[in-house]
Amino acid sequence: MTETADLIVLGAGAAGSAAAYHAARRNLRVVLLEQFEIDHQRGSSYGASRIIRYAYDHPAYVRLVSAAYPAWAELEREAGETLVYPTGGVDIGRRGEPPFEATLQTLRDEEIPFELLDPAEAERRFPQFRLDADMLMIYQADAAVLPASRCVRAHVRLAEQYGAVVHAGEPVQSIELRDHGVTVRTARQTYSAAAMVLAAGAWANDLLAPLGFPLPLRPVRCQENYFAPLHPASYETGVMPVFVAHLPEYPFRPYGLPSLDGSGFKLGQHGGPDFDPHRAGRPMDEDALASVRQFAERHLPGATNQHLSSRVCLYTMTPDEHFIVDAHPAHPNLIVGAACSGHGFKFSPVLGSILVDLATEGVTLHDISLFRANRFSED
Ligand SMILES: Cc1cc2nc3c(=O)[nH]c(=O)nc-3n(C[C@H](O)[C@H](O)[C@H](O)COP(=O)(O)OP(=O)(O)OC[C@H]3O[C@@H](n4cnc5c(N)ncnc54)[C@H](O)[C@@H]3O)c2cc1C
Repeated sequence: MTETADLIVLGAGAAGSAAAYHAARRNLRVVLLEQFEIDHQRGSSYGASRIIRYAYDHPAYVRLVSAAYPAWAELEREAGETLVYPTGGVDIGRRGEPPFEATLQTLRDEEIPFELLDPAEAERRFPQFRLDADMLMIYQADAAVLPASRCVRAHVRLAEQYGAVVHAGEPVQSIELRDHGVTVRTARQTYSAAAMVLAAGAWANDLLAPLGFPLPLRPVRCQENYFAPLHPASYETGVMPVFVAHLPEYPFRPYGLPSLDGSGFKLGQHGGPDFDPHRAGRPMDEDALASVRQFAERHLPGATNQHLSSRVCLYTMTPDEHFIVDAHPAHPNLIVGAACSGHGFKFSPVLGSILVDLATEGVTLHDISLFRANRFSED
């Protein structure tokens, strides 16, 4: 028998769980299909923490973050739990380095308040850091930590409370697109709906390629590393800012987040080697661990005093590291939210809302022109 709905959402990561929540909240009949369990550890959206911050090198993201903050606040109210933990954020870099300069310029252009600190002032304000003499620090007070797994679970829980039907452990095997509808098959059931949101993360091309809509996606493995610092109290949320280091000597930007709910101080690198998401195991990478330790020895002494754990997580990169949020070129009832390129979590409540706008109205009030799928095929 075929189960019918208004909207099928594929994938219960950050994007899909948020889309299911927004659709159900708008009184749509929603089916959310996830191949693994909710909050599993094989995709991109699980774990202790993610950064939300205005500091970006492109105005489109700053504007989207401005919409994301109130969306998170609304989710917190509905979920009845704290999901945004203010802690401030810093970017460190050198004058003249393009990503650092672009971030400064965007904050200025978008009139986001920030402070620019020289090394002495930076180390006085944030004694956890050691900066080289030619470095600067941008401080932006609104940056915060999001408890990733709890956010995804809150979206799924509230979607169900609004009536969404959630099927975990049910991989979608095929999608059939018609002019006025979508049919989806799993080993268990056939589903049919007027529209579909496909938010399949690193697995997206398994489903999009047979639909004639392959995207230039590159899944890569990234590693989160957790530490007990020498002075743990200085690395707690509310004391230690989140940080991103724009330093060309590190091919993948080092970043860090304070400890949240006993997680330990988290250090990672923005990027990593290609990785096949179908591989069952996610073994730890000793080189990635050594690299963040090396950064900490120079710029965060004592931060990596004791290694607690490391976990592999996937990024799904596009060539320009901008998202893809668009409809199938021949079937506007299939909306793809993909390739968040390692920075999509902070936007998930607003991204979910945009995906539902596109699936139901074909348009959204948000400016998503940067995320068109056909930008890679243009001259
Ligand atoms: C280590 C790490 C740190 C990060 N830090 C930040 C940060 O600080 N700030 C920030 O904003 N972003 C950050 N990100 C990026 C952010 O987490 C991701 O952009 C976001 O989680 C992507 O969510 P998604 O829903 O697109 O993908 P996923 O979470 O991978 O979800 C896709 C889902 O689709 C399911 N699926 C796939 N195929 C099928 C199928 N055939 N049938 C059914 N289900 C299917 C998968 O199982 C999966 O659950 C980080 C990412 C990582 C890995």
